[in-house]
Amino acid sequence: MSAPKAFIIGHPISHSRSPIIHRHWLDRYGIAGSYEAIDVPPDAVGDFIASLRGSDFSGGNVTIPHKQAVRDLCDEVEPLAARIGAVNTLVVRHGRVIGRNTDYLGFLFNLDAGAPDWDRRTRRALVLGAGGAARAVVVALLSRGIPDIAILNRTPERAYALAADMGDGVSGHPMSAFIGLAPDADLLINATAGGMGGTSFADQPLELLPGHALVADIVYAPLVTPLLAAARKIGLNTVDGLGMLLHQAVPGFAAWFGTTPSVDAALRAKVEATL
Ligand code: NAP
Repeated sequence: MSAPKAFIIGHPISHSRSPIIHRHWLDRYGIAGSYEAIDVPPDAVGDFIASLRGSDFSGGNVTIPHKQAVRDLCDEVEPLAARIGAVNTLVVRHGRVIGRNTDYLGFLFNLDAGAPDWDRRTRRALVLGAGGAARAVVVALLSRGIPDIAILNRTPERAYALAADMGDGVSGHPMSAFIGLAPDADLLINATAGGMGGTSFADQPLELLPGHALVADIVYAPLVTPLLAAARKIGLNTVDGLGMLLHQAVPGFAAWFGTTPSVDAALRAKVEATL
């Protein structure tokens, strides 16, 4: 049998840290496989996915700007990836392309590692942002049974729409609603494209959060975002976004190379050095 092969597609692709992660694990577990970054422009993504059906790739990752487009090109999409509306991991089996979303798993495993029992202690979660990543975060929180999820967004209409789509227990708000919602929040997550410095959230009084509240950011460059720095300054526990990136890679590696890898300090240090 030939060595298993995997890829990441995106456009551009040179910034991706995924090759560092997967090559680290290939080395660490002594697996004779490969993981390559392939720049695929939007008008070529259909042909690329079609070509996988007869290729020797076991699968791969999908990044910006293809996560939504690829969802519609797969032979099968796992239910939670369909609910999130985006595919970031492909598995090729018997000539069929199966789409998965492991971003939501990466988010959950990262919180599990950084703040054990966070889900049992969370009744209300505040999610900042209403884009693709926020959608994955909300689906993740729902999968753990968090009963009260409030989405706050600069453009409130997007928060209302996402909340309506997610159903019971999820509400949409403008950023200014933070003042009323914060005193009963157990978890605050930044899922916007910025680390919240100089944004419409930056002026919100973080000190309204209870002392036990956990603050997480899914942005990992910089590692300590302005939101995390402000939370730490007032003594709140925080979880940074790098772990989400590392943990989302685990299920893909396991599917393509047959070994479930662990997120260790050496991997984290290697990726951190590139930020
Ligand atoms: P997206 O779909 O483009 O959504 C962007 C979101 O950020 C929207 O809610 C947008 O609000 C908000 N936003 C942008 N600039 C803002 C500002 N100046 N002030 C307030 N809100 C602002 O992007 P995405 O795919 O959801 O990604 C969001 C972030 O998550 C990115 O930084 C990405 O790198 C990160 N991410 C990290 C991981 C990980 O593994 N750690 C995984 C996935 C994504 P409007 O609706 O008002 O425009």
